[in-house]
Amino acid sequence: MEGIVSDIKRMSVHDGPGIRTTLFLKGCPLRCLWCHNPENLTMRPALSFTQKLCVGCGMCVQACPHGVHGLRDGIHRVRHADCVGCGRCAEACLPGALALFGRTMEPAQAAALLLEDRTFYDQSHGGVTFSGGEPLLQSGFLAETLSLLKGQGIHTAVDTCGEVPWNAFAAVLPYTDLFLYDIKHLDAEAHRRGTGAGNARILENLRLLHQHGAAVEVRTPVIPGYNDSPETLRGIAELLRGYDNITYWRLLPYHSMARGKYEALGMEYPMPDTEMPDTPRMRALQESLLEIFPGTRLSSD
Ligand code: SF4
Ligand code: SF4
Repeated sequence: MEGIVSDIKRMSVHDGPGIRTTLFLKGCPLRCLWCHNPENLTMRPALSFTQKLCVGCGMCVQACPHGVHGLRDGIHRVRHADCVGCGRCAEACLPGALALFGRTMEPAQAAALLLEDRTFYDQSHGGVTFSGGEPLLQSGFLAETLSLLKGQGIHTAVDTCGEVPWNAFAAVLPYTDLFLYDIKHLDAEAHRRGTGAGNARILENLRLLHQHGAAVEVRTPVIPGYNDSPETLRGIAELLRGYDNITYWRLLPYHSMARGKYEALGMEYPMPDTEMPDTPRMRALQESLLEIFPGTRLSSD
């Protein structure tokens, strides 16, 4: 069974313990306004164009059979809507201004690529993390790749939004050492407003992971004006207190670093006016929550 992979990032220190290699899978059931990986929202290949890397050579204009690229008076225009994701222009673009996110891969091929970094995992108590998008949308590919890695003694983590049927979790449970699990809001309507979906299944899957004794680290992106009130966060802390399988709860402050990605993909950035919460405020929030849930951490800790 093939997977649709968007990217592989090496030497990550924010996707679980130790040094990790993260494989990103395409497709997501949510549409979070603050999404950092818009290239992974759909299963379709996504073409990214970075203006500052373009030297205006015109190779992409020649390579594209669909007339997506146009160069006039030194200005490069990309009609993203007409792109079918064949990747020819990205191959022709020597400066790397064009990149295509989305290639198919067999589990054995993915596992072989991920095992190349084994020395780093061994030296740092690290391993491999699967992220997205939502990796559990491709649970067949994921389970097979995870089982190959577990067969080699590699620590495995799955970074999930939780909005998938339980059978997707059941498929990967035997091969997953840690779930990185997002909880964004406990109020169903607010959750729908921020992500496009309610939270009933997400909360139920968290309960089921606890019932099955799975190790979980919860993550909450802290979004100003959305879920950063002490009351909202205290509510989440109270929920987590009831689960003894949750090692840490990480608060991830909103940032707008993905803005350039939206531009490169021809997408509108959904939160142009939102400011990043500063470190003293994040520390104060963390300190106020430690009393309820002692495993509360900031992303930088
Ligand atoms: S091939 Fe690359 S560098 Fe050349 S014009 Fe197209 S995007 Fe720019
Ligand atoms: S990926 Fe294919 S269809 Fe899309 S712009 Fe490039 S050459 Fe054209």
